[in-house]
Amino acid sequence: MPGDPPRRKKRTHHFEGPLGWLRKPTAKPSAAEGKEVVEGRATVINEHLIQHIVSVKLFTRSFPTSNVWVLHDRGEAALIDAGFGDETSAQVRIDYLTKELSNLDFKYIPITHHHFDHSSGGRRLRQALRAEVAMHPIDEVLLHTPTESNEDLPDDAEIDKRARIWRAEALETPVDVPLADGESVRVGGLTVRAVHTPGHTAGHNCYFVEELGILFTGDNILGIGTSAIAPPPAGDMEQYIQSLLRMRELQSKLFAPGHGPVVTATAAKVQELIDHRAARDAQILALVDRGYTNDRQIRNALYPELQKGLRRAARGQLRAHLARLVGQGKVTVEEEGKDWKVALTR
Ligand SMILES: [Zn+2]
Repeated sequence: MPGDPPRRKKRTHHFEGPLGWLRKPTAKPSAAEGKEVVEGRATVINEHLIQHIVSVKLFTRSFPTSNVWVLHDRGEAALIDAGFGDETSAQVRIDYLTKELSNLDFKYIPITHHHFDHSSGGRRLRQALRAEVAMHPIDEVLLHTPTESNEDLPDDAEIDKRARIWRAEALETPVDVPLADGESVRVGGLTVRAVHTPGHTAGHNCYFVEELGILFTGDNILGIGTSAIAPPPAGDMEQYIQSLLRMRELQSKLFAPGHGPVVTATAAKVQELIDHRAARDAQILALVDRGYTNDRQIRNALYPELQKGLRRAARGQLRAHLARLVGQGKVTVEEEGKDWKVALTR
């Protein structure tokens, strides 16, 4: 019989949303103030897979990074996701791909979802590599819908400035190949099949390479931490949980996520994420039962030491859970000014 579950380490809050998390400045700006330090890093995972990350440091900030995966076979290649599209980030990536991997013929850029940390590099990469951009038709529409919403971003002026550039680039990224559920593209002898897995976004695709047992999980499953699910209409917690179950059914051997390192313990990872969401639901219901009547109070109880800049994102997470609990008939929610009034269903 298994004993008590191991005690969890103290949780740090990572919100991997459209943008991800922001490391707060830890030191005073140095002499390098205003100077951007951009670095590309490639990691060979196996004979068919390379992980490429571009990190940008400005002042003492580290902007969040996202993964771009090079999947290759017999001289042909696809990039899964396109990373950030500001000129410096994209150029560092293009230099790597065209110089270090000049033997590869890049055919496709399948993008997992429309958020700009995955999509905004698409235009420049497409042009430099003469590769076709592919994504789910629903997220293609969202990609090309102008938005000013910063709901899931940390409150930060520098991030806002960057986000404007990334948003503009995402809007300008053409989609050549729509990939709905089950549709696929070929890379050498490999099949890259779209698995529509909504929740994080409505048109989120994972990409499954059956020949290798690799699943590109986008932002549904991350190498570190848990993914941010926005409340409807942008996100959908119920769909997200269903998508996790669907991803589990594929029994892939390796997850290549949108952020963080590859995951080999795939079944355990899915279980951990499902358990995490169930535990959160239970916590929320318990708080409402104890007399917490609005989402601001519940958020403060769930995340007592949250940095100011992450409060908005935390409330979004909570609302995504509340919307699912409403759908299950467990709570009712009423808008009250800026808050959501919450009550248990009697
Ligand atoms: Zn992301």
